[in-house]
Formats: sequence, structure tokens, C-alpha cells
Amino acid sequence: MTKRFGDTTAVEDLSLDIPDSEFLVLVGPSGCGKSTTLRCIAGLESPTEGSIYIGGEHMNYRVPQNRDIAMVFQDYALYPHMTVRENIRFGLEEESGYTSEERDARVEEIADLLGISSMLDRNPDELSGGQQQRVALGRAIVRDPEVFLMDEPLSNLDAELRAQMRTELQQLQNRFDVTTVYVTHNQTEAMTMSDRIAVLNKGKLQQVGEPLELYHAPENRFVAGFIGEPSMNFVEGRHRNGTFTSEFFEYPFDSGIRDDVGDTSDVVLGVRPEDIDLKRLPEGGSSGLADHEFRMTVSVVEPHGDRNVVHLRHPEDASESETIHALTPGTTVVDAGTDVVVSVDPDTVHVFDAATGEALH
Ligand code: ATP
Repeated sequence: MTKRFGDTTAVEDLSLDIPDSEFLVLVGPSGCGKSTTLRCIAGLESPTEGSIYIGGEHMNYRVPQNRDIAMVFQDYALYPHMTVRENIRFGLEEESGYTSEERDARVEEIADLLGISSMLDRNPDELSGGQQQRVALGRAIVRDPEVFLMDEPLSNLDAELRAQMRTELQQLQNRFDVTTVYVTHNQTEAMTMSDRIAVLNKGKLQQVGEPLELYHAPENRFVAGFIGEPSMNFVEGRHRNGTFTSEFFEYPFDSGIRDDVGDTSDVVLGVRPEDIDLKRLPEGGSSGLADHEFRMTVSVVEPHGDRNVVHLRHPEDASESETIHALTPGTTVVDAGTDVVVSVDPDTVHVFDAATGEALH
């Protein structure tokens, strides 16, 4: 489908097939079209071109109430004058085929599942943010819909609650086995909760795949830089006769990389911070360094307890134009200002076409 708002193309030619029971996460930078995609599936917007099917049925002209979906948004508006019980029960109001007793029983069952049974007779303003979020979830799942649509449902919660709700949401989804489309710009949520991730940029689908597939085999520079925290290092340069050269580095390609890169000249080297190995500078200084080793200066160290993010620059790079960052275990002591030996295993190197961003290797 394509969705335009006047001159703005919010989503362009998106084609996505989401199997039954899948947990699909839509990620991408602000304004890339995530919410618009979700709103089109929900029926809150209609596509400018293309069609949306749920369970094989064409949805374009169907109102949201008749799509058998449940939505949870970031600003999960609960009705303030209703109790928790009434708020959850409200999700069932439009459903026919339930007796009043069945509705009550279903509300109790869902409340139990979400751990909010003791709060059923309170008003929303007597609940914490996380508890309110659970009520909003309860209201959505009480109907047992065909599809869950969630737009940043955890973004108003603090870090601890977020982590807790992340696990709970996953367990819920596993239990109900409901096809879910989940929008977030949070990496951790995307990586840990999804069966597959779809990465959008400027309204265009960049890649869709399992989290580790996107991490290990990104199809382009955008996906490579977007997935992974801290992000992949990129060094722009030239490839000639099997050797990569940038202003400060020279890196020989092994035959595997050479075969893939072919005669492309303008390339970008990509290396994940966790694939950079740091060693002490040997007694003899830089002499005796191997092909894939470089002498670099530590400019900044960010300790995170379990690990350090170490910022490095080439000793002669006064402008720090080719700064790279590496990850070391928290127990490794590295001091700013010292020189170290950095090595990059050719097996871990990614190479992109500088012009198109397409992954070559
Ligand atoms: P965010 O992460 O910031 O919520 P997003 O990826 O969800 O962003 P969308 O909200 O889908 O992005 O917006 C995609 C593009 O469409 C943006 O350029 C936005 O300004 C535009 N857009 C969205 N809704 C409308 C609208 N109702 N009218 C005009 N332009 C819109």
C-alpha cells in the first residue's frame, strides 16, 4: 500500500505479509511511517493505493469496529469516571453473544491474568502508570481479537516497568497466540519481543526478517546502522585491488570479501563495536602489527558497569573524522589518552556500496 497526505508520502509501496500468530515489530526513525501503517491496518486511515487484507478478507472499506482488531496506544485513554472493572468491560460492550454474567466472568479472568484483580473497583486515577497500562491492555484483549495493534504502548513507563511489561506482553502474546503488529522506536523492544522486525525509513520498507538476521545480515547501510546498540561503525573509503583505503586506514580484504565487492570502488566499511578487539600496545610500539591491526588512541571511555564503550581515533587524525567506538568487558581497564592495538577480524567486516548503501558483503 501507499499512503499520501497531500505532498507527503508517509508510506510508499509497502508490501508485507504477516503470518497468523506472528509478533511483528515495525521500527524506524521518527516520521518513517510506522504509525501511519498501523493506522491503515486499523482503519483509522485509508490507503491512497493498495489493499489491506486480514484473514484473507479485504479491509479497505470496512470500519475499524468491524475489523476484529484491538488497539493499544501510547496515550491509553482510560475513562476516568469508570472503575477498572467498567473500563475493561467496556471493551466487550460492542460484542454480541455474551450474557451479562459471561461478561463479568471474562473481565475477572483477564484481570487475574494481568494481576490487577485487586484493583477492579478503583478508578484509574488511583492506579500507577504501569497499572493503568495494564488496564488498557485488559480492555484490548478482553474481546479476544484476531489482531493486536500496538503503537508504542510502553513509552510512557519508566525503565523498570517497561522491562517488566515487555516480558508480560510477550507472555500474553504467547498465551493468546494473537497476530500482533507492534510499533516502537525502542531497539530492545524490537529485538527481544518480535518474531520478525520490519525496518522502515522514509516510508519505505528496508528489510524484514528475524532479529538476528537483521543484526548479522543487514541488507543495507541503513538497517546496519539502525539495528545494534551501540551502532555499527562506518568508515568511508576506496577499494582497489583488494585493499580498502580511507584517509587513515588501510585494510586488506580477504578473498571472500574481494569476491563480493568485485570492482566496486567507493565503499563503506562497517564494523560492529563488539567485533573490535583491543590489546595493549606491545613493547616495540607499532612495529610488528599484523595486517588487520591498527594503532589507535583512546579518546573517551564510557563505563557502563558490565561493559565499556571505548571511543578511539587514529593517532594522526587531529580532526577525529574517523572516530570509531568499541565495546570491552567492564573488567577491562582502558585509560583515555593511551595508545592501544585494535584488531578487526575479516569474518566480522561488512562492506556497503557507498553510492546505493546496498550491502556487498
Ligand atoms: P513517530 O515515530 O515520530 O511517531 P512514525 O514513524 O510513526 O513517526 P508517521 O506518524 O507514520 O511516522 O508519519 C509519517 C509521515 O507522514 C510524517 O512525515 C508525518 O508528518 C506525515 N503524516 C502523518 N500523519 C499525517 C496527517 N494526518 N497529515 C499530514 N501528514 C501526516
